[in-house]
Order: sequence, then C-alpha cells, then structure tokens
Amino acid sequence: MIRRTLVVLGALALTLATFATAAPQAAAPATKPKAAAKGAAVAAKPAASALPGYTEADINAALQAAYAKYKDLQEGKNADYIPALAKVDSKIYGIALVTTDGKVYTAGDIQSEVSIQSISKVFTMAKVIEEQGPDAIANTIGVDATGMRFNSIVSIEFSQKALGGPEMNALVNPGAIAATSMVKGATRDAIWNGILGFYSDFAGRPLSVNQEVFKSESDTNQRNQAIGYLMYAYGYIKAEPMRATDIYTEQCSVSVNAKDLALMAGTLANAGKNPVTGKQVLEQEYVPKVLAVMATAGLYDDSGKWLFRTGLPGKSGVGGGIIAVSPGKFGIAVISPPLDEAGNSVRAQKAIADVSNALGGNPYDVKPR
Ligand code: GLN
Repeated sequence: MIRRTLVVLGALALTLATFATAAPQAAAPATKPKAAAKGAAVAAKPAASALPGYTEADINAALQAAYAKYKDLQEGKNADYIPALAKVDSKIYGIALVTTDGKVYTAGDIQSEVSIQSISKVFTMAKVIEEQGPDAIANTIGVDATGMRFNSIVSIEFSQKALGGPEMNALVNPGAIAATSMVKGATRDAIWNGILGFYSDFAGRPLSVNQEVFKSESDTNQRNQAIGYLMYAYGYIKAEPMRATDIYTEQCSVSVNAKDLALMAGTLANAGKNPVTGKQVLEQEYVPKVLAVMATAGLYDDSGKWLFRTGLPGKSGVGGGIIAVSPGKFGIAVISPPLDEAGNSVRAQKAIADVSNALGGNPYDVKPR
C-alpha cells in the first residue's frame, strides 16, 4: 500500500515536474496576447502612434525640434559637378516620417522636389533582386563597402584584384550602373518603364523625371561613361554599357519631395509593403538584403560613421536627400541640398539622427530583459 502510494506520488511529482518545465514554453505564447493587449490599450488613447512608447505628439515634437535646430545651419554646399544641381535652392529643407501603419508626419518644406540621385540606386538594386534574387547582386557586383567615394574608379581596380569574388556594391556608381544594366526588358523603353513604375510603387504615386537635371547630367557625365565602359571591359556589364549609363542617369533625375522619399523608406521599413497604398512592392524576404547593403554602403565612405550615430540603414543622394529605415517602425527622409565632403546632405544627416534617436529608432539600442 505504502509502495503504491509512493508510486502514485512519484507519478504526481513527475507530472508536476513536466508542467514546471513546460511552463516557460506555455508562458511564451501567453505573453504575446498580454503585450498585444497592452499595445491595444495604448492604441486606444487618441494620440498614440505606431511607435511603442511614443505618442503622435512625441513624433511631431521630434520633427519640429530637428527642423528648428538645423534650419539656420550654414554648412556644406550644393553639388556643382552637375550644373543643374548648383542652381537648386539651398534653403529647401523638409523632413517627413512615415510609420509602418501609414501615418505621415512632416516638418518644413515637403512640397519642393529635388532629383533623387543616388537614392535611386537602392530601388534599382531592389528591382534586380526582385527579378533575379539576391545572389544575382551578391555574386556579380558584390555586397561589400568600397570605403571610397561614390564615383571612384580606383575602387573598380581594387574590386578586380580582390580574390574570392567582387568587392563592390550596387550603391556606388560602378555597381549601380552595372545593376541598371541587369534590369530586365526587351527595349530601353521597357527597362525604363519598369524602373520608373517600381520607384512609383514605393512612393505611392506616379513619379516623373526632371528633364533639366537629366539633360544637364547627360551633357557632363563623361566620368560615369568611363565607369560604364570600364565595368563593361571587366565583364560586370554584359552589353550596351552606354545604354546602362544613360538609363542610370535618367533614374538619378527622378523628381521627389521629402514625403515621396519617406514613403519609399517606409515601404522598406514595412517589409516591402507600402504602408499607405497597401501594395506589396518588394518581396518581404528580400528586404533584409536591401537594408544590409544600405547599412554598409548607403552613405559611401561615411557609412560607418552614419551607422555608428544612428544604427539605421540609409541612403543619400547628391540632390540633397537622405532616407533611413527603422525596420518595423518607420521610414524617414530629409531634403536639404548643401552637402559635406563625402557628398551627404549636412542637415539631413543631423536631422535624421536627432529624430530617430529621440524616437527609439536605432534597432541595436535594446534594453535588457
Ligand atoms: N547622378 C549622380 C552621379 O552619378 C549620383 C551621385 C550621388 O548621388 N552620389 O554622379
């Protein structure tokens, strides 16, 4: 009898032990609804935002503070190696942030448009990845920072000499022209329409080209033509290097305002789905690949400094725009034409860093459990 009781007690202890070990697992899913319920409680407040812990007023305040802080900053100068860019109003200064629930927050000038320039490189690379998969970029152009200026020719030579594969990326001119050459299409028109349509889906409206900028850069882009030919000579570009350079120049001339850029970034922040139109523009699984190249090479040879300050994948253009992505949270863009030595907008870097850091945007900045 005693023995039987012991056996029963033993079995009971075993059952309890099983429960005990199962408990943490059972607790894991149980915490989710709890967290969701907490989120729902926050969302029920009228001024709550999609950013956990921040209200809409917090976001607006962060944008307004950054706008005011840098409005009168007189550093940097417009790009002038493309004549049309030198003429752009240096005072244009606008900030836009789009949260992944599609809410748009703005400060300053969000009407004025500038040419997208190198920010286009992100979306052409994304198009090639969408059409051919990430390895098509990784194995042909590469996904390593060059550590050199965006139009460096020496970087092509170094990439050639590197053992074990290409050491370049699609966010500097040589790799970007090569990426443009990889976009599918039977004719120039078909390729171009595919590129412009893809950009427009990211921006959530039909974009168009600033013809003055396109002509100005076409007349003066001999260096990029040289880069196109050199990339062809080394086999990165398979055919028609001047057509690729020409389409690349046209894609750089696409006209955007700060809100367009923020929505393009916001679509990347929202796993490839435009948070305003709801269209899945880029396959979700490809988004981390695009963000990785932005993180390592988006601000050219200053990409490390930028990541150190913000933790955000970003991309700049010599038109004065910068976009940055806080995955799952928001896309942000600032337009301000004066650039620093590396070719990155001075105000845009400062304003994005301030806003993101004020709103917990840095994905590496987590609290211990
Ligand atoms: N269209 C420009 C160029 O090729 C783009 C450069 C940039 O924005 N960094 O020089």
